[in-house]
Amino acid sequence: MVEPRPNSPVFEQYGTTDSVTFPAPFEGPTAPCRPRTPHDGPVHGPSPHDSLSTVFDAGRFRRDAQTAAGHLARNLADTSVRGLDLVDPALLSKTARSLMTAERDAVAPFDQARLDAILDLYVRTGIQVHSPGYMGRQFSGVVPLSGVVDFVSSVVNQPSSFYEAGQLPSVAERIMADELNRFIGWAPGTFAMITTSGASLANLTALLAARNKAFPGFWSDGGPARGEGGGRPAVAVGADVHYSVSRAAGVLGIGDAQIVRLPLGPDRRVCPQRARDELAEAERRGLKVFCLVASAGTTSVGAFDPLDELGDLARDKGMWLHVDGAHGASLLVSDRFRGRLRGIEKADSLAWDAHKMMFVPAPCTLLFYRDEADSLGAFRQRASYVFDEEPDPYTELDSGGRNFECTKRPMIMPLWTLWAVYGPALFAEKIEYLCDLAAETHRILLGEPDFEAVHRPEANILCFRHRPAGLGERDVHRFQVAIRNRIKREGTYFISKVDIDGVAALRVVMMNHQITADHVRALLDEIRRVGQDLLTAAA
Ligand SMILES: *Cc1c(COP(=O)(O)O)cnc(C)c1O
Repeated sequence: MVEPRPNSPVFEQYGTTDSVTFPAPFEGPTAPCRPRTPHDGPVHGPSPHDSLSTVFDAGRFRRDAQTAAGHLARNLADTSVRGLDLVDPALLSKTARSLMTAERDAVAPFDQARLDAILDLYVRTGIQVHSPGYMGRQFSGVVPLSGVVDFVSSVVNQPSSFYEAGQLPSVAERIMADELNRFIGWAPGTFAMITTSGASLANLTALLAARNKAFPGFWSDGGPARGEGGGRPAVAVGADVHYSVSRAAGVLGIGDAQIVRLPLGPDRRVCPQRARDELAEAERRGLKVFCLVASAGTTSVGAFDPLDELGDLARDKGMWLHVDGAHGASLLVSDRFRGRLRGIEKADSLAWDAHKMMFVPAPCTLLFYRDEADSLGAFRQRASYVFDEEPDPYTELDSGGRNFECTKRPMIMPLWTLWAVYGPALFAEKIEYLCDLAAETHRILLGEPDFEAVHRPEANILCFRHRPAGLGERDVHRFQVAIRNRIKREGTYFISKVDIDGVAALRVVMMNHQITADHVRALLDEIRRVGQDLLTAAA
């Protein structure tokens, strides 16, 4: 349990816990207990219609949007180093409750101070993705314009699984598919792309399509038909694969014993030769590996599996190659870093999170299929209320038959708008800066005898350990964990932690181009200071 931080600036502003007053608890309707009918008069006061008009008023909307823009602009202009405002949940909950109207019977009158307080609390607590102190996770500080477009999406509310509801988003998906495929290289008109809510869901969807292709009877029979596929369905993954893949396998009824873990080389990439041996062994155990999942940018260290060789291996073995490029597929956009994904054109499917390295609001995930027909293979069903029997030029753009969601955010709009307004160089420039910064951080670490780099960074993720003199070998793991927790609690920097070969390491993910080498050196000093405190306290 983290200690409460009543001195956090948020609480200075709204008063401490002592001054928090709770609204009266809700005690049920005061109106008659029978259901109201249209013949009942107004409950009291102005007619409900009047209060609704106030809430929906266009002028009201403009002022509220300006209020929000003001809070966000101040947040963006604040260049101070802050990683996380970690607040005790009980204290935060109390504050949040104190900001709620006590009015229950009528629509409460608008209260500007209340809205300001809520927005301020929202912006200032939690991770500070726009500050150079935030280096801990893969969510990005978004390009501000993409947030503006997301806000428009929220108000026009055009869910985009079906063309008739979300027309521009449906068209923009096709345009972005073509634009991004220029970096993959499939023939125009032969591939498919859908958007979906996160790479976890994209991985699940691709595995389902792969399974249905290898075991065509599975969807209708609830398991492989007798003798179908020539073995028990199994999936092969690199040992560092994201946890969503084994989770997806579980959802598909593929047990842990049917997941073949491929060994990694010293660079933490799947080693194709050893993968071949491992797959032959799995075959002997009666497993039919229908899908090989490669990572393009592992979550832990940002390593890129050798897609070219794994593509050949998959073809030889008749396996589907799914590439989890949630983090690293964005490097395709950069001329300098595209080579990390050499062989990507051999993939049957590719998951690509634009909400990570394309710097747009979450979720925005792209799921590509090399063969357009495969994109229809995940879900083999028809529902008369949404799927038209006679396709026409409009329904041809529906994605509802290919993605899991029914109501789906028009998540392509922020990405497409940035692409339309600024072009691809915006992304390439930022990605290159961030990858170069990770490389520079690696160089800095090599010059510091009390730090150890765990790997050479391939992208913008770097793991390292602090090993000051006097730290016993046995304590290395616990020391990194303690440092990470203390740094997180102090809040100036936000970094993460990952176990590498069973020993904890500190992890930075560079997502903000405002981070400089000076910030990195200041972080190392902070780690030294915290480490010294911990060693002194332990002595
Ligand atoms: C982040 C990540 C995921 C999960 O993606 P979500 O969009 O968070 O669901 C999957 N795989 C890799 C390699 C990731 O980095």
